Amino acid sequence: MGKKVVIVGGVAGGASAAARLRRLSEEFEIVLFERGVDVSFANCGLPYYVGGVIDLRKKLLVQTPVSLFKRFNIDVRTLSEVTRINPQKKEVEVKNLKTSETYNESYDYLVLSPGARPIIPDIPGINLANVFSVRNLADSDALKQFIETGKPARALVIGGGFIGLEIAENMKEKGVEVSIVELTDQIMAPLDFEMASIVHDHLTKNGVKLYLKQSVTAMEGDTQVRKARLSGGEELEVDMVVLGIGVAPESGLAKGAGLAIGSTGGILVDEFLRTSDPNIYAVGDAIQVKHFVTGHEALIPLAGPANKQGRIAADNLAGRPTKYNGSQGTAIVKIMGLVAATTGVNEKTLKRLGRDCGVCHLHPDDHARYYPGFAEMSLKLIFANEDGKVLGAQIVGKQGVDKRIDVIATAIRGGMTVYDLQELELAYAPPFSSAKDPVNMAGYVAANIIKGDYAPCYWDNMVELIKGDAMLLDVRMDKEAEKFGTIPGSVLIPLNDLREKLAEIPRDKQIMIFCQVGLRGYIAERMLKQHGFTKVKNLCGGYKTYKPLAKLLKPVKPTEAASK
Ligand code: FAD
Repeated sequence: MGKKVVIVGGVAGGASAAARLRRLSEEFEIVLFERGVDVSFANCGLPYYVGGVIDLRKKLLVQTPVSLFKRFNIDVRTLSEVTRINPQKKEVEVKNLKTSETYNESYDYLVLSPGARPIIPDIPGINLANVFSVRNLADSDALKQFIETGKPARALVIGGGFIGLEIAENMKEKGVEVSIVELTDQIMAPLDFEMASIVHDHLTKNGVKLYLKQSVTAMEGDTQVRKARLSGGEELEVDMVVLGIGVAPESGLAKGAGLAIGSTGGILVDEFLRTSDPNIYAVGDAIQVKHFVTGHEALIPLAGPANKQGRIAADNLAGRPTKYNGSQGTAIVKIMGLVAATTGVNEKTLKRLGRDCGVCHLHPDDHARYYPGFAEMSLKLIFANEDGKVLGAQIVGKQGVDKRIDVIATAIRGGMTVYDLQELELAYAPPFSSAKDPVNMAGYVAANIIKGDYAPCYWDNMVELIKGDAMLLDVRMDKEAEKFGTIPGSVLIPLNDLREKLAEIPRDKQIMIFCQVGLRGYIAERMLKQHGFTKVKNLCGGYKTYKPLAKLLKPVKPTEAASK
């Protein structure tokens, strides 16, 4: 036998490390400890199992202890919790949860992949029987059984993160009325506010009650929660509660062994995923990673990074030095027919870090408009003004979102710029895309901004501009204002009439152009600039970006704006 590798945690990172290690060498003795009943299950599928979209529980079991032994000769011990690490003796203490017996197991190398646990807030009533969190199959079984036997009518989801939203969707699927309470002013923290707002509207339209900037202060009931009190004073009658307020790295075991912990609370590892003890590696949700775009310390609890890190740790153990170059937070979620996705860094984080960036919004179609079944998406690209490097993207839409976010995620990995996005030659035929794919379009718009061809104005500085000495120019067709609404105080001159009506536009004032999605506004901007107008801006993303946010802006009285 070769060296002995002990792995703690048998799901994404742990199982991945074990299988890769065996593929690289038949020599290692591999022992894998898992606290739970199952190993290598698809936790990402749990919400869909709860909702019944995934009909059979066994479909979530990617491997079993028996299959891991037969195929990979891995000694898998479930219901076995590693309770202590003794780095000096190179031993772990293991508690057999079936018998409560404790024993020591030696190792040459240890791989920690204990994951992250759901955060349980300290709210009165949190321990009542109908409060659930979802981390493993056992949790999901309990939740599913409660829904199916208890037939709850109203569910409260605390927290508007990815898992909370997936659970919300699946509860709706089961016919349960859902309310979401979220502490901040938006759901899905990785999205910027205006992108999250699209999801807010969608949830509301689908009958989900959304309570933003509120927390649950107490939950009341005898054995089960019946009423939840919110910080805003509201009281919700509920039949069940699901926690989705995020996860915290399981770094206790590592801390107890004296391993270094990062500033984020995750286990500190080097680029080879080695902890402060060279015989111990750590991977997955429990570790602190370097953000691929900002270079900052981060916790990025996602399945892709965990699996890749498990594989990299195995490579290093097998004598193939491999670095982990950081995580960029590429994530996607389906919410009642809508898809929201993100990659890289968002604008609010860059602002907080004091880093300069440009952004653009566009609303391209997923495929050619003349081919049936097209759908518009909302795309935000974030880039460095200095050199055009792509820093992040967020996309919300009904279809084609996954493909575009992945192309941009790849571009970020490759260190590409917005100019590179313009050049990407992507697959096109009418059912799939347009000759200029949404990713190409994002590159064009961003490059126009950087070159100064397009002076954007954003939804959140509209009011300021209107209240100043500005003319608000709507260049849409006259029926569009009726159909979609308009910005009070705006003057309508359809784009096709603009050239003839240049005399009606003041040359000394700031001209704020808008159209429906930003494209006609850009054409109008170019026209005016070439006719000598110097103070011209175009509303980025057009009225479509602005509309859901307008209610949050201080209203401008039509008379006030019109008199400018
Ligand atoms: P895990 O896969 O959580 O595995 C850790 C295991 O270690 C656990 O089974 C735990 O029981 C065990 N363990 C912990 N401590 C000990 C100990 N001391 N002794 C023995 N065993 C121990 N990510 C995505 O990218 N996309 C998604 O769509 C997505 N959906 C998700 C949906 C849900 C409901 C959940 C819960 C997570 C989802 N994730 C998703 C996140 C993804 O599952 C995690 O990022 C990934 O599983 C992390 O892998 P890991 O190995 O670090 O931890």
